[in-house]
Amino acid sequence: MASSHTVLMRLVASSYSIAQKAGMIVRRVIAEGDLGIVEKTCATDLQTKADRLAQMSICSSLARKFPKLTIIGEEDLPPEDVDQELIEDGQWEEILKQPCPSQYSAIKEEDLVVWVDPLDGTKEYTEGLLDNVTVLIGIAYEGKAIAGVINQPYYNYQSNEKQKLREHRNEAKAGPDAVLGRTIWGVLGLGAFGFQLKEVPAGKHIVTTTRSHSNKLVNDCVTAMNPDDVLRVGGAGNKIIQLIEGKASAYVFASPGCKKWDTCAPEVILHAVGGKLTDIHGNAIHYNKEVKHMNSAGVLATLRNYDYYASRVPESVKNALVP
Ligand code: AMP
Ligand code: MG
Ligand code: MG
Repeated sequence: MASSHTVLMRLVASSYSIAQKAGMIVRRVIAEGDLGIVEKTCATDLQTKADRLAQMSICSSLARKFPKLTIIGEEDLPPEDVDQELIEDGQWEEILKQPCPSQYSAIKEEDLVVWVDPLDGTKEYTEGLLDNVTVLIGIAYEGKAIAGVINQPYYNYQSNEKQKLREHRNEAKAGPDAVLGRTIWGVLGLGAFGFQLKEVPAGKHIVTTTRSHSNKLVNDCVTAMNPDDVLRVGGAGNKIIQLIEGKASAYVFASPGCKKWDTCAPEVILHAVGGKLTDIHGNAIHYNKEVKHMNSAGVLATLRNYDYYASRVPESVKNALVP
């Protein structure tokens, strides 16, 4: 029987269940204890067994249900048969109860591009900072990020910089998975769900930025914001969650390194609640399948007061970051 739901809403509902499954895989790899860490380009650019398995799970599950989609995943993996155990066939029924915004009701499967970060915050994951980690599935149409899902596998889990990874593993094993994790989703024109929107107190400027990929340019730009406080945490998904939950007022990253799969889903969640994410020059980020993967001109994102931060980006920083 043909579904009465639109392609977009079916895709979001499936992505929700698929991101949940990926989150379970991320937890399982830690619990089993063998991270299988591989260096990609350098010691701060890592891939683990969880990145690999979660990407296989997400991309294969999506491709089976939506064979005409363009799916772009972060990890470069050799083609291989994916274990049936990794396939997720479910869809989150609550999403199917929501109306599809009219401007997206006629979208066809082949018009959509899905950007997948199977595990955002890998460096922090390997260090036991588990609540920094997210699974990101972003959906783009005509180059624009229009829908997205973020799973946070270790929501409700308190990371402690001073604790050892071994202790975290034990704790992760001991705690029932049921209390861990959450999934946030959103569609432009409909809204974003799965969290409580909160703002930083008026007049406070709290900047969140990279923990593992800092350099002089990144620090110069953060300083120029004249912040009351600076948070250094892992993950693009995690930093956007800080913006929508009132923990930070701006995500400032004046450096290349962040990719389209890092920003697509988080951008949708932020835009759906009235925030703004651009490169450091103020340009919108495009998500057509042909674009280069790197966000070469950095990231600037806020829930409110975008202009305050944009006006403070130094010219020297802008000149150093070519879009
Ligand atoms: P971070 O804020 O450092 O967690 O970075 C956000 C996202 O961009 C993560 O997926 C990082 O892996 C990625 N990223 C940022 N800078 C770099 C870099 N210099 N090399 C590799 N990945 C980076
Ligand atoms: Mg990432
Ligand atoms: Mg990743």
